[in-house]
Amino acid sequence: MQFDFDFDLLVIGGGSGGVRAARMAAVQGVRVALVEKQYLGGTCVNVGCIPKKLFHYAAQFSEQCHDAVGFGRSDAAHIHDWQKMTANVTAEVQRLNGIYQKLLLDAGVAVIRGAAQFVDAQTVAVDGKKISAQRILIAVGGSPWKPNLSGIEHAITSDEFFSLPERPKRAVVVGGGYIAVELAGILQALGTRTTVLYRGDALLRHFDADVSAFLQQEMLKKGIALQLNNNVTAIEKADAGLLVHCENGETLAADCVLYATGRKPVTAALHLEHTAVQRASSGHVLVDENFCTQEPSIYALGDVVGRKELTPVATAEAMWLVNHWYGDGARARINYELIPSAVFSSPEVAAVGLSQQQAEQRFGVEDVVIYRTDFRPLKHTVSGSSERMLMKLVVQQSTDRVLGLHMVGAEAGEIVQGFAVAIQAGATKKQFDATIGIHPTAAEEFVTLRTPLPR
Ligand code: NDP
Repeated sequence: MQFDFDFDLLVIGGGSGGVRAARMAAVQGVRVALVEKQYLGGTCVNVGCIPKKLFHYAAQFSEQCHDAVGFGRSDAAHIHDWQKMTANVTAEVQRLNGIYQKLLLDAGVAVIRGAAQFVDAQTVAVDGKKISAQRILIAVGGSPWKPNLSGIEHAITSDEFFSLPERPKRAVVVGGGYIAVELAGILQALGTRTTVLYRGDALLRHFDADVSAFLQQEMLKKGIALQLNNNVTAIEKADAGLLVHCENGETLAADCVLYATGRKPVTAALHLEHTAVQRASSGHVLVDENFCTQEPSIYALGDVVGRKELTPVATAEAMWLVNHWYGDGARARINYELIPSAVFSSPEVAAVGLSQQQAEQRFGVEDVVIYRTDFRPLKHTVSGSSERMLMKLVVQQSTDRVLGLHMVGAEAGEIVQGFAVAIQAGATKKQFDATIGIHPTAAEEFVTLRTPLPR
């Protein structure tokens, strides 16, 4: 260690990646400081994954109240108290903030509150106080981005969604990605008349096309209005609520307009111009395979780098980097191609590996075999719900390897996490076939798919 610096490692940003890197380094005896200007836990804990998943549970309870009627319950009161939910979720988020703080302090990390600005490649200033470090890690993440159009100030983003004082009666959700479909599903299930307005022709367009089309059908069944190939031209404040003027000439009335049009890295206030760090046109910090920027003492990871904007990716990057710096360097590099992810829409979507389209492009249509089923889950044969489930395997014919596994349906996130281990281990279709199912479950379908789709 070099003791001519205040710290060995200074981490800017107390989100998933920054906290993990700081803690893991500190427990190895490294002198670590972490600078955070807002809340510990970052987007995920405060305005992302955690409150979203808790709201998703609330949405599921609402749907289950309806499902329960078919099973003989007649007292399923469909009353939901938005204020009670938000208060309880906020309390949980605050509890997690405290846990993050404790984890850092217990590990010996110096937690510094304030905004860090680079002075040079090994020095930052926080509220005018200079702090030097041998290495500086940028883990500042991103924040929601809205396009610039008339009345956009009336629209909220996911940052404000979880603290809305009341549930809007009518909402327009703009965008067709993760956040748009997740928050639309929550709102609709809790009783808001919800429209998703997306400029393209398929929601979740980076997922398998079958998955995207299937989810759209299920969202329509839930009563969500879909406006595809359309966009907002202006938002106007009206006597009661907002008017959303659209490219197709229509005007939609809403109490809440929620923009979910992607996120951008938040590097503007870092004064990176005092260093040699370079950014892409998207604003993402450019790093090499070791997460090092053009400045040998400055590194970056997580959403600010933008390889995959997911919490487990940021924490995995942090673990790899700390092992690379201070450990035995033996930790395997992250395989960015096999990162499972789930969309907590209603119903859920989850996938790992290649979509049919990606597989066919890479290996040729002739070398790709598709196994697919869609069905009404057992529960809904009695609940009366018309919700269906989709399961799909993408297999390489020449090697028999399962290249991709995709699902739309209840608990997709939980189910696909388990199968992701098999895909990571290079499982073949024969190994899937040799696996005995657990009956009666939905997940058993993945090991009982026998007939490929005709090409
Ligand atoms: P996404 O990138 O997933 O989706 C952004 C959407 O906004 C796209 O449909 C995009 O359209 C649309 N869009 C972009 N610019 C405009 C514009 N100018 N006008 C109209 N529409 C526009 O971003 P999200 O905000 O949904 O989420 C950000 C990231 O956070 C995700 O990519 C994901 O990595 C992460 N996340 C993960 C979750 C999970 O794991 N469950 C949950 C939530 C977020 P187009 O496709 O045409 O470009």
